[in-house]
Amino acid sequence: MAKEKKFVEAITAMDVDFAQWYTDIVKKAELVDYSSVKGCMIIRPYGYAIWENIQKYLDSRLKELGHENVYMPMFIPESLLQKEKDHVEGFAPEVAWVTHGGHEELTERLCVRPTSETLFCDHYAKIVQSYNDLPKLYNQWCSVVRWEKTTRPFLRTTEFLWQEGHTIHATAEEAQEETIRILNLYAELCENVLAIPVIKGQKTEKEKFAGAHATYTIESLMHDGKALQSGTSHNFGDGFARAFGIQYSDKTGKQQYVHQTSWGVTTRLIGALIMVHGDDSGLKLPPKIAPTQVIIVPIAQHKEGVLEKATELKNRIGNFARVKLDSSDKMPGWKFNEYEMKGVPLRLEVGPKDIENNQVVLVRRDTREKEIVSMNELENRIPQILEDIQNSMLESARKLRDEKTYTAVTMEEFKDIADNKPGFIKAMWCGETACEEKIKEVVGVTSRCMPFEQEHLSDKCICCGKEAKHMVYWGKAY
Ligand code: AMP
Ligand code: ZN
Repeated sequence: MAKEKKFVEAITAMDVDFAQWYTDIVKKAELVDYSSVKGCMIIRPYGYAIWENIQKYLDSRLKELGHENVYMPMFIPESLLQKEKDHVEGFAPEVAWVTHGGHEELTERLCVRPTSETLFCDHYAKIVQSYNDLPKLYNQWCSVVRWEKTTRPFLRTTEFLWQEGHTIHATAEEAQEETIRILNLYAELCENVLAIPVIKGQKTEKEKFAGAHATYTIESLMHDGKALQSGTSHNFGDGFARAFGIQYSDKTGKQQYVHQTSWGVTTRLIGALIMVHGDDSGLKLPPKIAPTQVIIVPIAQHKEGVLEKATELKNRIGNFARVKLDSSDKMPGWKFNEYEMKGVPLRLEVGPKDIENNQVVLVRRDTREKEIVSMNELENRIPQILEDIQNSMLESARKLRDEKTYTAVTMEEFKDIADNKPGFIKAMWCGETACEEKIKEVVGVTSRCMPFEQEHLSDKCICCGKEAKHMVYWGKAY
């Protein structure tokens, strides 16, 4: 009993200490454990099951769009990494180096991939000859390593899991189309599956990926008003193709450079799920991504017939939902807390009285609403409730995001909002990096993106007063 009490008490309230609340959830919901490697986490079965569901969805959608999975080495020779100047400069501070094999020093250092553009380019240069070989739509599921200074489970780890897509195309138009197609796919994953609303837009020059012509992003807003870059899609133009000599002969026999894209989402998305949906009782998972959608908690399970009935229900529900039965001898109250902590969308309680009345009790994790449902109605009612939870979680997240989105037209307003109201701030910008840097220094926010859906808030840059070119979402970010 003592241990059970502690389990419930141990979670810090979100308003008291958001960072601690987050850490409590990742531990108590058994998503991760800390490892003895600094900055690296152990993803436990429950956390990994969420990742597998993200993978399943994305992998099948990518295949529908014509992508193929491949696997590249995890090491990149130094000479290869250095072929594209901006790329190597951007990643140099974050790469880990292998210098020895056994006792022997290597003649050339190998970096542990922070991303695999260079390997893909090297390969593409060898396998592409003619326009018939294009496009190549490759994707890789793997882990990468970036030597981050500060780390948090899922949000920013030294090693993280991701997919990285790398495509090459005959024309600039096709590459641009692909870049946006994938950004839209990421937005669809976030909104329709993870119930996380996103802002789609383009990164500024300052914030774009090392070596890219243009970087596009989906930005989401966490419960504490901080932004999270949740996925990125890059158009490289023919920059890498020139550096690596990736050419094809077109229909007239003329040599042309290919146009290239790359894009990725990572285990960071699990951090977003926690920080967008969670509450003081723990995680709250949208049904489409939840490893367990329905948890059955038997009441007075020692009484005759209860476990038998619970098992029968489990088998029935298993035909249309991911369901589990907890028949351990822990108290029902303990189980309620445990599965609330784990964010299971729907709880089904069944005890002797329910069996007598041919009914069950269903309790939603998101609203805690209770509903008594006839046992004959489960096939109808459970899918309806799960769908309703999915939709209303997206709606609540959108409402919260909109409530925390502000507009500023003067620097005073801008500073005041940034200091007192955590969230997105929309403001006009002239396009100059100098202003962006000044805003970071004076206001303490960074540009998140230039959204596709532009609004005209004023004619002038909020910083220098010159003609405004873009409306930008600004914010403090993870
Ligand atoms: P990039 O290749 O830099 O465009 O990164 C792709 C995506 O990975 C970014 O949009 C982030 O959402 C995510 N990401 C970047 N660094 C990390 C990290 N250290 N841990 C987890 N996710 C990351
Ligand atoms: Zn300006």
